[in-house]
Amino acid sequence: MGRCLIIGCGGVASVAIHKCCMNSRVFEEICIASRTKSKCDALKEKLEPVTDTVITTAQVNADNTDELITLIKAYDPDAVLNLALPYQDLTIMDACLATGKHYIDTANYEPEDTAKFEYKWQWAYRDRFEKANITAVLGSGFDPGVTSVFTAYALKHYFDEINYIDILDCNGGDHGYPFATNFNPEINIREVSAKGSYWEDGHWVETEPLEIKREYDFPQVGVKDMYLLHHEEIESLAVNIPGIKRIRFFMTFGQSYLTHLKCLENVGMTSIEPIMFEGREIVPLKFLNAVLPDPASLGPRTKGKTNIGCIFTGVKDGKTKTIYIYNVCDHQECYRELGSQAVAYTTGVPAMIGTSMVLSGKWNKPGVYTVEEFDPDPFMDALNKWGLPWIVDENPKTVQ
Ligand code: NDP
Repeated sequence: MGRCLIIGCGGVASVAIHKCCMNSRVFEEICIASRTKSKCDALKEKLEPVTDTVITTAQVNADNTDELITLIKAYDPDAVLNLALPYQDLTIMDACLATGKHYIDTANYEPEDTAKFEYKWQWAYRDRFEKANITAVLGSGFDPGVTSVFTAYALKHYFDEINYIDILDCNGGDHGYPFATNFNPEINIREVSAKGSYWEDGHWVETEPLEIKREYDFPQVGVKDMYLLHHEEIESLAVNIPGIKRIRFFMTFGQSYLTHLKCLENVGMTSIEPIMFEGREIVPLKFLNAVLPDPASLGPRTKGKTNIGCIFTGVKDGKTKTIYIYNVCDHQECYRELGSQAVAYTTGVPAMIGTSMVLSGKWNKPGVYTVEEFDPDPFMDALNKWGLPWIVDENPKTVQ
């Protein structure tokens, strides 16, 4: 059905590429392009004997729009799936505009020197994508991504109006290290150490980092502490869900993670301000990123489950009701299937699905959209089919 250029070859990309190769009816041809080409070649060598998808590889610096344009023109894909880092979103969108190709990503743009992600930079491309007759699907991971598809599905099938959304991201997995992150350490630490915020009654309420803590008994995982964070889907859901009164996002963290993070913050290791070290400029957080375990290496060590989902409260036929839609994913099962832990798995699978929606024409409308702006039904069916089955609980516990 199509030809896809995939940029990045880290933990999330590895899962997405495995799944593209399992879905070779849609992904007839893929090109894996990244900064370190040897990683792309190793994955191609592993997958080629077991897939009908035709795989090629390329080296690209995705910070450089001209290099991207040259690669896109040479490969001539139908769509470009961005699985590099959020810093590359705009250069890749620029290259898609210049070449007239659809664009999909999993995380919204964040300038490297300001730890604050917002949709405003990517939403500024709306008119240009519309005029070029190409589609950009923003945030097709799990959160953002599946959490917003769950919202569109709840609104379509369970509610006349949704008023409250609590998005709960629980990682009940244990990798055995005192401190490691489950996706890119630099991006993870920027997100967790930033101020928290939630949307209430038409405006943002800001909190100190990790100021608001709650406890929740997660199905199939158990009781965990969770903390309110700022998260990108709050911004788009606040715009796209009529009648919404409050949206909050909570993520679970263990005590060892929090103690290490506090210590690293206290000694300045999480700073993004450059410093001089032995005659050259370094960014402390980038140095920390280099010494922490690679999230892609956590697969064999991580045991336990993730549970990510949304609790919705709203009105149906004049009555108030609450439902909880969630997915549970087992780290060891993900490792047995694809050699990856569940955080990479739960992001890579929806990245493949979002791209397949575009390639198959199910989600094509020119412009720049987040995933809740499309029909959720084919995406929800695909989640069941490709390894992320979901559950609807019509009588869940709520969060205070
Ligand atoms: P990794 O660090 O494992 O992988 C990033 C990849 O991008 C690496 O292959 C890296 O190359 C490549 N890359 C980085 N910079 C460039 C560049 N300038 N040019 C070309 N390639 C580049 O990250 P993850 O796989 O953990 O995360 C990938 C994305 O997924 C991130 O944007 C992250 O925020 C997002 N994410 C989204 C989630 C969601 O649910 N929506 C959840 C988790 C992650 P090299 O090998 O040379 O370093």
